[in-house]
Amino acid sequence: MRVLVTGGAGFIGANTCRELVDRPEIGQVIALDDLSTGFAANLDDLPVRLVTGSILDRALLAELIDGVDAVIHLAARPSVPRSLADPVASHEANATGTLYLLEACRRAGTYLVAASSSSVYGSVAELPKHEDLATRPMSPYAASKLAAEAQVLAYHSAFGVPTLALRFFNVYGPMQSVGHAYAAVIPAFVDAALRGEPLTVHGDGAQSRDFTYVGTVAQVLADAVVHRITSTVPVNLAYGNRVSLLTLIGKLATLIGHPVEVEHTPARIGDVRESQADSTRLTALFPEVRPVPLDDGLAQTVRWY
Ligand code: NAD
Repeated sequence: MRVLVTGGAGFIGANTCRELVDRPEIGQVIALDDLSTGFAANLDDLPVRLVTGSILDRALLAELIDGVDAVIHLAARPSVPRSLADPVASHEANATGTLYLLEACRRAGTYLVAASSSSVYGSVAELPKHEDLATRPMSPYAASKLAAEAQVLAYHSAFGVPTLALRFFNVYGPMQSVGHAYAAVIPAFVDAALRGEPLTVHGDGAQSRDFTYVGTVAQVLADAVVHRITSTVPVNLAYGNRVSLLTLIGKLATLIGHPVEVEHTPARIGDVRESQADSTRLTALFPEVRPVPLDDGLAQTVRWY
């Protein structure tokens, strides 16, 4: 099989390419990335062809998708604060870019699995988040991911394009970038803790997240492609383990072997208070995936930084 990974030089993309090249069923892996937040170096030691370009380039998409059996779609501007700074750019990359890809897949009859986001649940308070709950995006980022997801499902229903939309929750692990204003919480905490600097917590720290190790996400994506798993409804990609940021900080301090200092700042606009997935659909579709436990994933992440 030949597989195209959009956003393949990014954090989840590069970890996914690593998983794909280890699978005997996969013959060739191509990464398409505009390197806006990804790094060519993430793929340096892998037998992956990196095409530097944008999913907004429709001619390039047609050319690449003609030659592959499946697409793993991860390319996006993946950040709430960046979407507040430039909502139109977020919509273009996340929603319009997905539509262009779907059009190319429709013409070629190609399978596509795409990253949606738990942020689509937004202000819906009910826990755990079941996929049939209402969606109430609280940021342009979340709205753009919801629009993309809706198109992925609509192309399945309207045109029979074999698709799967996975709602990623908080993914963490090696190669997650840090050292910029938009860093995700685990790399930001690990980086500060290792430098002996205070950890910045937006709000009181009691907010919770359902963290998934990136190796688990890569396994699900590779299985999806190999077994051509489709769904007419969205599927959460997380295992229902709710952890508060303060608990996470405690685990980090234990791993690092010394206490860490915490600095609280005001809560951020668009941030969700509680998050926990209902994983019934996921485990039914991917019964063979054994998620990496948080303590093990954190240890591997700290080792990497
Ligand atoms: P990332 O920034 O590391 O990866 C995104 C990649 O897409 C980058 O390599 C970037 O250069 C590339 N890209 C951006 N715009 C592009 C364009 N127009 N054309 C081609 N490439 C482009 O972020 P990530 O965390 O690896 O996110 C991957 C996907 O997972 C995204 O779709 C994101 O919305 C989704 N997601 C991630 C999380 C998480 O916790 N990391 C949670 C929910 C959803």
